[in-house]
Amino acid sequence: MNATHSHLKDLDYSVVQQCMHCGLCLPTCPTYDATKIERNSPRGRIALMRSIADGKLEATKTFADEMYFCLGCLACMTACPAGVNYAELFEHARAEAEQSGVLDSPKRSVIRGFTLRWLFMDLSRLQLVGHVMRLYQQLGLQAFLRRSGVMKLMPKRLQELEAMTPTVQDKFSSDLIDPITPATDVKKHRVAMLIGCAQDLIFSDVNRDTVEVLAENGCEVVTPHDQHCCGSLHAHNGEWELAQRLARKNIDQFPPEQFDAIITNAGGCGSHLKHYAKLLAGDAAYEKRAHEWDHKVKDIHEWLAQIGVKTPPATGSAKVVTYHESCHLCHGQKITNQPRQLLKAIPGVTLVELFEANWCCGSAGIYNLTQPEMAGELLDRKMKHIRSTKCEVVATGNPGCLLQIVNGAKKEGLPLRVAHPVTLLAEAYRGGGNSKDKAQSSK
Ligand code: SF4
Ligand code: SF4
Repeated sequence: MNATHSHLKDLDYSVVQQCMHCGLCLPTCPTYDATKIERNSPRGRIALMRSIADGKLEATKTFADEMYFCLGCLACMTACPAGVNYAELFEHARAEAEQSGVLDSPKRSVIRGFTLRWLFMDLSRLQLVGHVMRLYQQLGLQAFLRRSGVMKLMPKRLQELEAMTPTVQDKFSSDLIDPITPATDVKKHRVAMLIGCAQDLIFSDVNRDTVEVLAENGCEVVTPHDQHCCGSLHAHNGEWELAQRLARKNIDQFPPEQFDAIITNAGGCGSHLKHYAKLLAGDAAYEKRAHEWDHKVKDIHEWLAQIGVKTPPATGSAKVVTYHESCHLCHGQKITNQPRQLLKAIPGVTLVELFEANWCCGSAGIYNLTQPEMAGELLDRKMKHIRSTKCEVVATGNPGCLLQIVNGAKKEGLPLRVAHPVTLLAEAYRGGGNSKDKAQSSK
């Protein structure tokens, strides 16, 4: 480990020492709820982080494993009366774990090198992979492999991962959205639209729907085709320097002073995008602009509530909808009422509240890939509550949650539609028809 630099020792000590050990966060923590082990709780994790910051503990493998067992769902932040900034602690703790090298292995280095340092640093590479996957799916190779029983010869984990592979869209965002979309009627705002990374491949239809809804609500929408990842994947997985590099690229591409808002429709991305100033603190060329950037980034629900959403025509069919809250939308960004208001504004929608709507579904970035057991338990719990609503549609504002619940419904053979709230609104503006493109579905 580099002896001169430690992410936790260098962190502002007022953040490190803020926890007063009251334990009020414990009942809201999914990992503590599952194990009842103090180390798996926010309080336990913060104590470990503080021990490292105080120089009483080295970053060991146990510490690193614990940081990766944490979902990063931030439910503890909502519960905490002392205002502990767990999000900041968590990112620095994972960076500390990576820097210590205690988890290093050749296999892990190859996977991280390929994904974090190569694939997600240049989205043209990700699109290339998307094209290959699309061919694999559309030429019937995936279906053939599944039917032929070949997959059954593979290790169980590989079979599980293959079953979770999402359908790559027929068209990516650049095929569906013009670089400039004029406001449908009178232009009142000029906004930038962030198309995301995986979102662009798997939910380009949601991006298109978002742009349509924005235009319908008086926004001119700027959507460049060659965008960059927001860097949340990097920041949440200990790659601090790569996350900073991506933040600078985004600020350069979307100078915040040129837009009324910079729009994201992914709860996980938005939570990270709103903290570029912290990420770039001390960077003379970017820190000031990053503050303006943070102020301009808006989740789509938040922005529509701010500007006042236009009521769609009353032509939609009746449907029972429930709403699952993305952790980073509700705990990370404190956006809870706006999506519900938006859904209630759609003619024909009856919104039924979901029990534990703000309890993590197990998706948590790539947690469902790295911690399948815990993620599976959380998904089962979520599906049980969804079933009890007897809904036809689950609405949720984050691509990871959308996919996780689609997979949960598939596993249970539940004919459920899972959709972003903005898609339901776009459909209502179109006169009640379903989305124009093939969407991820459990059916
Ligand atoms: S982020 Fe979520 S899993 Fe991690 S300590 Fe907080 S509540 Fe628990
Ligand atoms: S993180 Fe907050 S709620 Fe949890 S023990 Fe510390 S002060 Fe209490």
